[in-house]
Amino acid sequence: MLKPESYAAGRWIAPGETATTIIGPVSGEPIAVAGGAALDMQEMLDHARTKGGPALRAMTFHERAKMLKALATYLDTRKEELYALNPATGATRRDGAIDIDGGIGTMFVFASKGRREMPDGHVYIDGEVEQLSRKGTFLGQHIAVPLQGVAVHINAFNFPVWGMLEKLAPTLLAGVPAIVKPATQTSYLTEACFRMMIESGLLPEGAAQLIVGRTGDLLDRLGAQDVVSFTGSADTATMLRSNPNLVKNSTRFLAEQDSLNAAILGPDADPDSPEFALFIKEATSEITAKAGQKCTAMRRLIVPESQLEAVAKALSDKLGNIVLGDPSSKETRMGALASLDQKADVLEKLAQLAPETRVICGGPDALSDNLANGAFLPPTLLACDDPDAATVVHSVEAFGPVSTLLPYRDLAHAAELANRGGGSLVSSLFTNEPQVARDVTLSSAAWHGRIYINGRASADESTGHGSPLPHMVHGGPGRAGGGEELGGVRGVLHYMQRTAIQGSPDMISAITGTWIKGAAETTGPQHPFQRTFDEIVIGETLHTDPRTVTLDDIEHFAHFTGDTFYAHMDEEAAKANPFFPGRVAHGYLLLSFAAGLFVQPDPGPVLANTGLNGLSFQKPVSPGDSIKVRLTCKRKTKRTDAYGEVAWNVTLTNQDGDQVAEYELLTMVSYER
Ligand code: NDP
Repeated sequence: MLKPESYAAGRWIAPGETATTIIGPVSGEPIAVAGGAALDMQEMLDHARTKGGPALRAMTFHERAKMLKALATYLDTRKEELYALNPATGATRRDGAIDIDGGIGTMFVFASKGRREMPDGHVYIDGEVEQLSRKGTFLGQHIAVPLQGVAVHINAFNFPVWGMLEKLAPTLLAGVPAIVKPATQTSYLTEACFRMMIESGLLPEGAAQLIVGRTGDLLDRLGAQDVVSFTGSADTATMLRSNPNLVKNSTRFLAEQDSLNAAILGPDADPDSPEFALFIKEATSEITAKAGQKCTAMRRLIVPESQLEAVAKALSDKLGNIVLGDPSSKETRMGALASLDQKADVLEKLAQLAPETRVICGGPDALSDNLANGAFLPPTLLACDDPDAATVVHSVEAFGPVSTLLPYRDLAHAAELANRGGGSLVSSLFTNEPQVARDVTLSSAAWHGRIYINGRASADESTGHGSPLPHMVHGGPGRAGGGEELGGVRGVLHYMQRTAIQGSPDMISAITGTWIKGAAETTGPQHPFQRTFDEIVIGETLHTDPRTVTLDDIEHFAHFTGDTFYAHMDEEAAKANPFFPGRVAHGYLLLSFAAGLFVQPDPGPVLANTGLNGLSFQKPVSPGDSIKVRLTCKRKTKRTDAYGEVAWNVTLTNQDGDQVAEYELLTMVSYER
């Protein structure tokens, strides 16, 4: 008998006297006892707020990203222990891969995004500096900082590992401690993974705690700096989000709940097309993976009227070959639902769908006797012949291996049917026609969190309708909960406060650790290219001597590079152009001269120039004009153990002091001389 434990204020706590007995979905026999322990919710919150939060916030985004990478690497080395427990949840190894490898992979992606897209500091800069004054002495900047509270994660039964890790990764990267509450039915698998994270010793004390069982009065104790992130049913979400204490404190509540996702077969996809075959393949997988218990699963298959019977035949042929049974057996393609209760729920929903649908294949009557004790249900395909008059197919979700075919007349009708789900996590389209993709997207994107388009061009590399990716937003409007998870840094920002800061350039620069125009410039003791990464100071500036640009220079550059564009070579033609007073210097010539002016040629800590950002040419430079350069250290980011990236703001000005060009120069600079 498994006995998953809670982890509260640094202690493991065994199930208590009122623990719930968990019935295994495969055998129908008890497999675990969970919950029922008297947990002190205030102690857990205090532990997170006074220990975990401060420890996480003391780290930079990059340090937290490195911690996530180490955690994911550690879990990866021990994942077979999780796979060993996985069949007890009713899931096959393939299902387990979505959950276990999917969860670890999500953590790796956040680790990498944290290093690449967030600063090696404590403040995240959101957008450009806003010019709030004429002379530039008073500016605005949006920043984001970690919330100073706790994230409470309430997870669903269907993804015991991914569900925990996909919420933990952005939360920890933001710098916020979490209290994780898995669904009781599969809590033993979540606990096994959570225990590994604690055993890794990589998390600061108080950064993560676990509640197996009920949350008691936890939500009544949350405040303005806390976040609840929920995945599960719409009813529970509604009940929890209307908790008076959460409402009173405007506590953030993110919900990702059941949705009636659609998949549209394009009008161009006839039965011989690659798109038709792809539709059948993905629909089969969506109905059977995790026995259909995926929040993203295709529930409504919207197909051209003329193709309804062809799709019904092709899909029922495929579904008829699915081997249903013990998830630990290699032959099994589809395991059990997560619990007997879940099976009862799906049967009840099938009964509600019955008046509006006919059964194409599957259904409870098709279940073989030897599987009757477990939570098994054959893949079930329904068809609804009058989707306009129907209401239940657009509102009731059977959270199991069940999908319904709906015929459409034209594309507008297809989009209208997809939108009748009232808001979904994902809607997909199988087409080879860009115009079909555009029409469907414009008429339905407002109703869906993600639109997945697949066809022959993307088939080999597409990631699948049902896979929420850490890079892309996962969530949806309306019935899907109105929340958003993942989506790269967007997912991290849910656990941070966006604040508009206003002040002088020096104030803003000191807060963000980034030099901005108007902030103090300093001069170092040596040329900046002779200074190591650590020696270079934000705001450190080099002013060069001027250099005159001659007609000979322009001629030489034109013939040397082959860029004999008329604006550089033909006085009359250049003059006729509204941008130029006559022949002008090439922008790239100016860039090259700028490098010649600011570079210190000796070997030194600067290792390489790795790029330019935001280059703009603002004023033409004519023969006889002279240019000089200002180079200021804007930002520093550690990249490896040996070197970091220094970003420089570079401006070129002419003899009148007018700015003619600006860009951000990126260099890699060694920590050693
Ligand atoms: P629930 O909404 O009942 O449970 C989701 C989570 O909320 C679980 O961790 C559950 O814990 C917890 N919970 C329930 N009541 C409370 C409460 N009063 N206070 C704090 N936490 C609470 O969903 P189910 O797991 O029972 O699934 C029911 C339906 O939800 C499915 O049939 C499906 O339609 C939908 N669903 C949608 C998912 C999605 O990803 N969008 C995923 C899973 C389900 P406990 O397990 O201890 O009850």
